Amino acid sequence: MTDEPNDATPFLPERSSLKALREAAAGCRGCHLHRNATQTVFGEGRAGSRIMLVGEMTGDREDREGRPFVGPAGRELSAALEAVGIDRKEAYVTNVVKHFSFTERGSRRIHQTPKRFEVEACKPWLEEELRVVGPEVLVTLGATAGKALFGSKFRVTRERGRPVDSDLAPLVTATVHPSSILRQQTDEDRQAERHAFTEDLRVVAERLG
Ligand code: SF4
Repeated sequence: MTDEPNDATPFLPERSSLKALREAAAGCRGCHLHRNATQTVFGEGRAGSRIMLVGEMTGDREDREGRPFVGPAGRELSAALEAVGIDRKEAYVTNVVKHFSFTERGSRRIHQTPKRFEVEACKPWLEEELRVVGPEVLVTLGATAGKALFGSKFRVTRERGRPVDSDLAPLVTATVHPSSILRQQTDEDRQAERHAFTEDLRVVAERLG
């Protein structure tokens, strides 16, 4: 991997509107992940959205459709937001890593947790999204997003559901990635995880009024 570029910075546009960023990100070759993925999946939502949600990485369905959080985990996220009274269309939703990383097992593409150098390569896009969106509330979903924005010592199990000490937004908080609901083995455990995830987002809803 040593001869591969590992930084999205050279691909950032001069103008930093969301439109310009999205168009530039479509051609990003800042790391090796663009080679096997279908397309860049940039964040979705408006500049000035009051809430910004940051997940881990583009998934299989997202890679095919070109939009973030449209697979099963995305449905969990939408349902939890709705349960606490947040309209997903009012939120800006994105991932730390904007190309899908996977290994093939037969006809299936199995998601790979992004490596540290892939997160670092892609981070300039997230930093630009944060700057342009300027959310009132920032929520990280899962360990990868938390570590990317708060450092390697961040532990989502310890910090979830309460304010994180960060100047990235007026309220910064963290919860698990909604895919953790789907990984539970029993209906009972799925319900419990779904409930905990929703309660974490309730803190955000209360802030937004
Ligand atoms: S994962 Fe990020 S840095 Fe790597 S090519 Fe895709 S957009 Fe660029």
